[in-house]
Amino acid sequence: MSEDSLRSEIVKVGSLLYMRGLAHGSAGNLSVRLDDGSILVTPTNSSLGFLAPEQISKVSPAGTHIAGDPPSKEAFFHLAVYEERPTAKAIVHLHSTHAVAVSCLCHDNSADVLPPLTAYQVMRVGRLPLIPYYRPGDRKLADAVRGLAGEHKAMLLANHGPIVSGKSLQDAVHAYEELEETAKLFFLVGNRPVSLLTCEAITELNDVFPS
Ligand SMILES: [Zn+2]
Repeated sequence: MSEDSLRSEIVKVGSLLYMRGLAHGSAGNLSVRLDDGSILVTPTNSSLGFLAPEQISKVSPAGTHIAGDPPSKEAFFHLAVYEERPTAKAIVHLHSTHAVAVSCLCHDNSADVLPPLTAYQVMRVGRLPLIPYYRPGDRKLADAVRGLAGEHKAMLLANHGPIVSGKSLQDAVHAYEELEETAKLFFLVGNRPVSLLTCEAITELNDVFPS
């Protein structure tokens, strides 16, 4: 897909996520990786609901601003994910309500903070590790992200929100939506006895649908 088409796709997807309430205010950011390794990322202080294609920032793999408006202050952790995941072509990072609520809970097992409720969660999201809290813009967050990104399509930043990568922007959006819906189910079932997917069922899903 050409750079112009990808810019238009980011605008369209941003608008849909905003209209559906998954993105609010100026929170969240989207990016795609171009063939030369640079990325297109949504600009700082912009609302995903009201972007124009020419506004989208272009940033080198080293983080240098090349074109468009100044990039999101969170672009550095997008670059960290791309470094560790050669197959990732797009990243969705939002502050959607249910996923952020999960990120604010105390978790016994930070290696996987959502129980395996559904097959599509296992197939599209996989295990969801929690990354400890860092203040916005803290570069130590990039190191923490780098440490987990190779093994995980989705990660959850504590008291903040998820970072989800995909083979395309559509793939990353689908995975993000699955994560948000799973977080909703997690609160909906609450403390009731839950029938979780078994280890055998998860192994079968991972064998039949490798990520
Ligand atoms: Zn954020």
